[in-house]
Amino acid sequence: MQRKRFLRLAGITLGGIALAPVLTACGGGDEAAIDASVPVLDRTALEPLQGEELSAEEIAGLLFMREEEKLAHDVYVALYGLWGAQVFSNIVPSEAQHTEAVRQLILAHGLADPAATTPPGVFVNAELQRLYDQLVAMGQPSLIDALKVGCLVEEKDIVDIEEKKREVLDEPDIVAVYDNLLCGSRNHLRAFNRALETAGGVYDQPQFLSLDEWTAIAGSAPELCGA
Ligand code: ZN
Ligand code: ZN
Repeated sequence: MQRKRFLRLAGITLGGIALAPVLTACGGGDEAAIDASVPVLDRTALEPLQGEELSAEEIAGLLFMREEEKLAHDVYVALYGLWGAQVFSNIVPSEAQHTEAVRQLILAHGLADPAATTPPGVFVNAELQRLYDQLVAMGQPSLIDALKVGCLVEEKDIVDIEEKKREVLDEPDIVAVYDNLLCGSRNHLRAFNRALETAGGVYDQPQFLSLDEWTAIAGSAPELCGA
């Protein structure tokens, strides 16, 4: 956050510095020459403010969320393959949209897509690679375990997206996508919770949300996202 402000200020300062030799070269005292150089100062000074540069935190957030949404997608594909439960196949296309929405932001801001060539179940981020392997293993013993993995992925998604959203300074396109991902994740959480209860399980020990937060989302009505 600090870095972005610094970069913008640095841009303005550099604009001012760049102008100084021009004024000197005019020899001073020549009013017309100084006036003519003023628009150059304005343009140079404003350019960094109109740029699409993102802070280091904003960039890291996008790269992480691109892969975390891919992780949700790939975990659900794997668990659907194991258990054939409809809740997984229902949510897979939504996760594909989520990771694609983040990919579009990454491309729009001129960044390299970390998931451009990675196959299903493979991640550039080592933490997400470990998590993927762990989650798929956790979903192996029973359908109830697999549905609990769905609950776990969604509560982690919500907490991570909220954290990344807090780090966004003034990029409305990023905030809009994060809000849409949050809405979708709450719906997914409700769907997995319902499927788990139908299968005879209960998710009473959330790992990332408080039990109160979990209960508030799980017990509320589905939302219309992206409206
Ligand atoms: Zn998602
Ligand atoms: Zn989800």
